[in-house]
Amino acid sequence: MRAMLLDAPGRPLRLAELPRPEPGPGQVLLRVRACAVCRTDLHLVAGELPDPALPIIPGHEIVGTVVAAGPGATRFAPGTRVGVPWLGWTCGTCRFCRSGRENLCDAARFTGYQLHGGYAEYTVADERYCFPIPEGYSDVHAAPLLCAGLIGYRALRVAGEGTRLGLYGFGAAAHLISQVARHEGRRVFAFTRPGDTTGQQFARELGAVWAGGSDDLPPEPLDAAIIFAPVGALVPAALRAVGKGGVVVCAGIHMSDIPSFPYAILWGERVVRSVANLTRQDGEEFLALAPTVPVRTTVQPYPLEAANAALDDLRAGRVAGAAVLVMGEA
Ligand SMILES: [Zn+2]
Ligand SMILES: [Zn+2]
Repeated sequence: MRAMLLDAPGRPLRLAELPRPEPGPGQVLLRVRACAVCRTDLHLVAGELPDPALPIIPGHEIVGTVVAAGPGATRFAPGTRVGVPWLGWTCGTCRFCRSGRENLCDAARFTGYQLHGGYAEYTVADERYCFPIPEGYSDVHAAPLLCAGLIGYRALRVAGEGTRLGLYGFGAAAHLISQVARHEGRRVFAFTRPGDTTGQQFARELGAVWAGGSDDLPPEPLDAAIIFAPVGALVPAALRAVGKGGVVVCAGIHMSDIPSFPYAILWGERVVRSVANLTRQDGEEFLALAPTVPVRTTVQPYPLEAANAALDDLRAGRVAGAAVLVMGEA
C-alpha cells in the first residue's frame, strides 16, 4: 500500500510502498477513504511532540471502511464505515481510566503518533476506539469531525455554559464548534491573525456575531474563550477579553511559551486550563449531536501524495476549514 511516512522530525513526509497491515486481536483492517490533517500533525512533523514512534504514518482523523477483522473483533461487519480518532488505546486500569478520564491515561497510545495513522491506503485500529460515522456525511466531510470536532466539543464543554464565547484561531476546530455553539444559543466572537480579513469573513459566514484580530478586544466581556492557535501570547490576550469568572481553555497539544502577565487579569476567579485528548464518551456525544445541528464541514481536499503541501498550507494559514487527504481507488 502507499503511505506517507515520517522518518524523522524536521523532514518532509516520504511517499513509501509498505506492506498492507494485518489486523491483530481486537483490531479491524480499514481501507482508508479520507484522513483530515490536524494541527497536531504539524507539531509532530516539526518535532514539537515528545517520543513519537518513528518511522510513523501520521493522521488521526480517519474515515475508512472495514475490510477484515482480527481475532476476537466482532463489533463491525465488513463494509461498515468507521472513524478512527486520536485516542487509539488506553490501559483501562490506571486511576484516570477508572475515573472516566481515559483521555489522561498514563499508558495511552495515540493514532498517528505511537500507532500508525491514516495517511495511507490502509490502517488497522482497535475496534473499541472506533466510532460509527453518522449518515449524511461524505467520507471527506466526516473526517474533520474526528479531531477538530471532537476536541473542539470537549473544549466547548469545559468552557462552561456561558453565552458569550470567544474562539482564538478560526481554523478546523473553530469552524465546527462555532456551529454547535450557535445551535446552543451562544454568541460567538472570532479572533484570527491580525489582518486576516478572509478568516474573519469566514467566521461571520458561520454565524460569528463579531470577528476581529487576536490583538483586538471584543465589544463586550466574554464568558469563556477557547484558544485553538498554538500561540502562548494569546493566553493573556484571552484573559483580558473574559469577564469575572471567565474561563480560558487551551485546546491545542502544543503552545509556545506563555508570557508573564499581571495577576490582575487572572483575579476575579478567572480560570486558565487545558484540554487534553478525548474520551470515547466525547466522541459518542459529539457524533450524535453533529447531524442534529447540523454541523457542516468546510474542506479543502488533497490527494494522499500531496500531504506535505496540505501541511504547508495549514502552517501558512491558507486552509479555509479543514484540509483532508482523499485516497483514490486502490
Ligand atoms: Zn488532531
Ligand atoms: Zn489508563
